[in-house]
Amino acid sequence: GMMMVLVILALGMGGMVYVTWGRMLTPEMEMRRALLRGEFVPFIQPIVSGHDGSLVGAEVLVRWNHYRSGMIRPDLFVPLAEECGVIVPITRELMLEVARELSAHLDQLPPEFHISFNICPIQCHDFTLLEDCQTFLSTFPPDRIRLTLELTERVLLEPTEITMLLFERLDQIGVKIALDDFGTGHSSLSYLQQFRVDYLKIDRCFVAMIGSDALSRDILDGTLDLAQRLGLKTVAEGIENQEQADFLRERQVAYLQGFWFAKPMTMKEFSAYLRTAPELPLNEGGWRPAM
Ligand code: C2E
Ligand code: MG
Ligand code: MG
Ligand code: MG
Repeated sequence: GMMMVLVILALGMGGMVYVTWGRMLTPEMEMRRALLRGEFVPFIQPIVSGHDGSLVGAEVLVRWNHYRSGMIRPDLFVPLAEECGVIVPITRELMLEVARELSAHLDQLPPEFHISFNICPIQCHDFTLLEDCQTFLSTFPPDRIRLTLELTERVLLEPTEITMLLFERLDQIGVKIALDDFGTGHSSLSYLQQFRVDYLKIDRCFVAMIGSDALSRDILDGTLDLAQRLGLKTVAEGIENQEQADFLRERQVAYLQGFWFAKPMTMKEFSAYLRTAPELPLNEGGWRPAM
């Protein structure tokens, strides 16, 4: 009966079982319930121009605001949400929420504001994602918001017929693709040969190498060279200090992101940030564009 079903689901989820309120709940059931309660919330982290330090976009990062455990970081539940497919409705909810919030603040956003969402490989196996992107974009006047999907290169994406067609359709409606965590996967180069990619996001482990030994710097320089030769725009993530920001700006990295500029924040905090950001230096260290 019911118990049997739960056990099978639990085994399917790698043997993990949660006990909540005296009942056995699989992570999938727990996440579906959390979805209904609106516990998955978008946080958003600003991205600034490497050229002049101005706000150019933002990345959406999910948090699980669990009714008893508090804020749970994505690393702890996104892999499970992908495994059972709940990541699909979670992403849809995030997109709807972010579209609502951005629509209310369009007058404060710079032109062609870039917004990016992180996507799992399973979301590239049918056209649900295309529909969700269309819905997102239809909320805004044409070309007002540029939508980017970030795909991590840590996980292999099979170039199946449907995936290739999906990427083509996404391209047709103007959706950009960023290869996230670039340099950390095993597939950097084959990824780039097989899929259309618009941006490379240099992983923060490379940014952390700035200021360390010469070999590490060479590795970072080599990575930036590769991006430039391929004609791809680069985003550097995980910038935590002035030295890193200056180094990357000198090397003409197009976009910069990290705690040094702004931490991920709630949508409400973001609307306050939008009101004050134009008047404030864009980081706590008071860095201003050198021009
Ligand atoms: P990611 O896409 O590479 O996101 C960047 C991560 O670095 C975020 O962690 C962000 O909070 C953190 N970060 C940003 N600036 C700094 C910095 O200066 N220093 C340090 N130490 N960290 C910084 P977060 O939010 O915990 O997300 C972790 C990962 O979870 C993301 O890595 C992404 O792969 C995944 N993720 C987040 N939201 C979603 C989502 O909605 N869907 C999917 N499929 N994955 C998501
Ligand atoms: Mg990302
Ligand atoms: Mg990343
Ligand atoms: Mg990462």
